[in-house]
Amino acid sequence: MSDHYIHIIPEEPGAVPDADKREAAALYFRSIAPRSDTISTWNKESLEFIDCGANFGRITCPSCGAEFEVDLWNDWMDSDVSKAGFTLTRRAMPCCGAGFTLHDLAYEWPQGFARFGVRAMNPNIGKLSVEQRARFESILGCRVRVVYQHM
Ligand SMILES: [Zn+2]
Repeated sequence: MSDHYIHIIPEEPGAVPDADKREAAALYFRSIAPRSDTISTWNKESLEFIDCGANFGRITCPSCGAEFEVDLWNDWMDSDVSKAGFTLTRRAMPCCGAGFTLHDLAYEWPQGFARFGVRAMNPNIGKLSVEQRARFESILGCRVRVVYQHM
């Protein structure tokens, strides 16, 4: 069986909550997904791309809904990286000219960029409920994005 992860990352890229909040989020994750193989927090100096793995689907423009070509997205990913990691430079969309960063795009299964996350390996709880997501937001003190990663 392949592994799957649930990642909780801040909606605001680069946000890193205080250590006590990070720890509290991991404890809460353990309480709602006690059968997880592992639950861990991480934080880094530069932005990491947290992808949804095999759940990767369509990418669309958040403004007009046009599909964004994966080839273009790959080029954008390559050119967004500097020595210090992803820069999340805002660009004009080819469809409608609206300006977005790679983090802003509408990914059919959410993914995003973060310097901090808490993740559960093989939690076997399906999707988080609205209440569970809200609880993570209250614990971490920020809006969160949930990434379901299927390896
Ligand atoms: Zn557009």
